[in-house]
Amino acid sequence: MQKPTLAVIIPCFNEELCIKSTVVTLLRFLDLLVSAEKIKKDSYLYLVDDGSSDRTWEIIENLHKNDSRVKAVKFIRNFGNQKALIAGLDGVRDIGCDCAVSIDADLQQDENAIEKFVEEYVKGADIVCGIRNNRETDSFLKKLTALMFYKTMNLLGAKIPVNHSDYRLVSKKAIDIMKLYPEKYLFLRGFFNELGLKTSYINFDVKPRLAGKSKFNFMSLTALALNGITSYSVVPLRFVAVLGFLMALFGFLIGLETVIEKVFWHNSPNGWATAIILLCIFGGIQLFCLGLIGEYVGQVFREVKARPRYIKDIELR
Ligand code: UDP
Ligand code: MG
Repeated sequence: MQKPTLAVIIPCFNEELCIKSTVVTLLRFLDLLVSAEKIKKDSYLYLVDDGSSDRTWEIIENLHKNDSRVKAVKFIRNFGNQKALIAGLDGVRDIGCDCAVSIDADLQQDENAIEKFVEEYVKGADIVCGIRNNRETDSFLKKLTALMFYKTMNLLGAKIPVNHSDYRLVSKKAIDIMKLYPEKYLFLRGFFNELGLKTSYINFDVKPRLAGKSKFNFMSLTALALNGITSYSVVPLRFVAVLGFLMALFGFLIGLETVIEKVFWHNSPNGWATAIILLCIFGGIQLFCLGLIGEYVGQVFREVKARPRYIKDIELR
């Protein structure tokens, strides 16, 4: 295969401390790949400013003035990292490229892996997933919840590779297919995995953040995980139905046992405690199931409104 035109997508939200050095590093890296004849000269960076309230956009404008390979788009407000990535993929589809890599603005993901990504692409892969070697930079809580998330997703049938963040290469073919998916809350990790295109995996090291703080907190990660689950699996809904059936069966058997005891041994059922405990357990299970169904109703509600995924303010090409 011919050497490709590579687009590197970088979502940025309040990254004034990192963005300049990230862009300089990545441009230098593009130069390196060009001189090694791995990619074409017209390869470029595509920055998506996810409604930053700091100097991020100002810095991006300056970088664009100095080097036309720095292209960018700015949202009118914060839409979240997934939307920024989607906008990045839409943007590079419009501008044109053979393949695109998405990488975080804090360069936590080792950028040198991009070379291996491109090699896999040239060998014929349409999707190359970066798999992190370690989670040393993560807190205990993040490690635990991440593990729970990947296990749950795999249990539910959405086979997402463990420890794959949104660091990946996708071919033009995959980006074009994305256009066929109108769903607003597209979960990219699930989507690219589900396509069934030829996929490779490359391991990479995770570094500490260049500067600044993580833009994710426990709540936003939970929201991402719930969206991942409810947009890729209805198994939890079936689970609720089975659970309801088992509970009813249990109640029926206990009732039967009580009647038999009363008729044959004249034993009256006793135990207030038992009644209260069962009441609480079943009440709890019912509320949990209602909440779970509510998540799906919420997903339907958001999709049905069909609001735009993101709104662009300014684009620099
Ligand atoms: N990000 C974004 N919108 C948001 C939150 C984060 O575009 O609402 C970007 C952020 O600028 C960074 C990437 O998503 O480039 C990953 O964020 P971060 O490094 O804060 O997450 P972590 O590495 O801690 O998971
Ligand atoms: Mg980070």
